[in-house]
Amino acid sequence: MISFREAQDFVLDSLNVLAPERLALGDVLGCVMAEELTAREAVPGFTNSSMDGFALRAQDLSTGSTQLKVIGSIYAGDASSSHLVAGQAMRIMTGAPLPDGADCVCMIEQVSVDPTGQTVTINKVMTAGENVRYPGEDIKIGQVLVSPGDEMDSLRLAVLASQGFTSVLANRRVRVGVLSTGNELVRSDRSLTSGEIRDVNGPLLMSLLDESGFTGVDLGVSIDNHEEITRRLSEGVRDCDAVISTGGVSVGDVDHVKLVIGELGGEHARTMRVAIKPAKPFAFATVGERRTPIFGLPGNPVSTRVSFELFVRPALRRLSGHRRIERLTLDAILDLPLPRDDDGKLHFVHVVARVHSDGLVHVERAIRHGSHLLNALVGANAIAMLPDGTNPLRGDVLRVIILDADQLVTESST
Ligand code: AMP
Ligand code: MG
Repeated sequence: MISFREAQDFVLDSLNVLAPERLALGDVLGCVMAEELTAREAVPGFTNSSMDGFALRAQDLSTGSTQLKVIGSIYAGDASSSHLVAGQAMRIMTGAPLPDGADCVCMIEQVSVDPTGQTVTINKVMTAGENVRYPGEDIKIGQVLVSPGDEMDSLRLAVLASQGFTSVLANRRVRVGVLSTGNELVRSDRSLTSGEIRDVNGPLLMSLLDESGFTGVDLGVSIDNHEEITRRLSEGVRDCDAVISTGGVSVGDVDHVKLVIGELGGEHARTMRVAIKPAKPFAFATVGERRTPIFGLPGNPVSTRVSFELFVRPALRRLSGHRRIERLTLDAILDLPLPRDDDGKLHFVHVVARVHSDGLVHVERAIRHGSHLLNALVGANAIAMLPDGTNPLRGDVLRVIILDADQLVTESST
């Protein structure tokens, strides 16, 4: 057996960030930027009103109650062509350019307009700049907006849109092939015959990929046949940036996947027995000129899930150029004992973790079942790490990997 760290390092050290591409702005949410972009326009671009009201000259209002002549109206989208002189005001809407000569805007709620609309009375003193937005207050020309390595979120995307950028150089979503292997697997809603089970890992991995911001490519189900698995994995390598297969990496008589991954990867392949529970068997290779990674995960769905979290997700984040590839991990207080055997392995246990009124994260419940019992995991929002040689007791502090941070503050169902 090799340590978890050694296995993970082998994977991560084999990978390079994929080449960036020019992508439409609408397609880059969650992607990593590969270029610096600086502002080419000031935002706001011109002096304008932040209120619906009257544009005027502050110096006209020294008395505290002043009647001004209304010389017209200006709307958002209008070009600024008017000019105010002493004693004049102009009706103005939010976002409209401030007329020349005006230096402040009085809110509509604070004026009284005479019935003819010819004059307006302002019953307060105002200072220049009130309710006015000036050019460059938000963004100055030349200011750095995004840098290589920044992850595109909705606000960065909106800032680039505010500058008229329609495409950017970024790492697109990684495309990941997903192959399930096993003679027993069925991919339809027909009734099962003796010995058959339904393919769970295919849909599981497709949705885990989607949740993590990657694009799953369904490579279907293969029987336990060497040529067939070779053909399907090779197609995946040809069409995708990475390939995940499940099943066939253990020590069974028909565990061909580990052999195929070994053949495809040659010196860049490794079949491992990792000192973790669940998900001990694991095969990995990088293949072909592009050194496309193939992950051979164990077939039990719980093992597949854990193996995805520990090896695949960080690796795909590295391929996509993310600086932070690990999930958030936190210290949590155990509200129950979690005894374990000394078996030389690092144990990963699905748990329910919640923030309690003491402000600390507590492990309220642990799901300790076999690696084939997937339904039991529904509702778990974290994975606790139990190092070998420990026997965690109630009140002890454990490291937990947070899978769903929103659930930390959800009311418990138990
Ligand atoms: P294997 O790693 O191929 O020995 O499979 C280990 C266990 O996981 C066996 O009980 C398989 O039937 C089961 N298994 C393998 N692939 C899948 C799958 N795609 N969906 C559900 N169970 C699977
Ligand atoms: Mg199998």
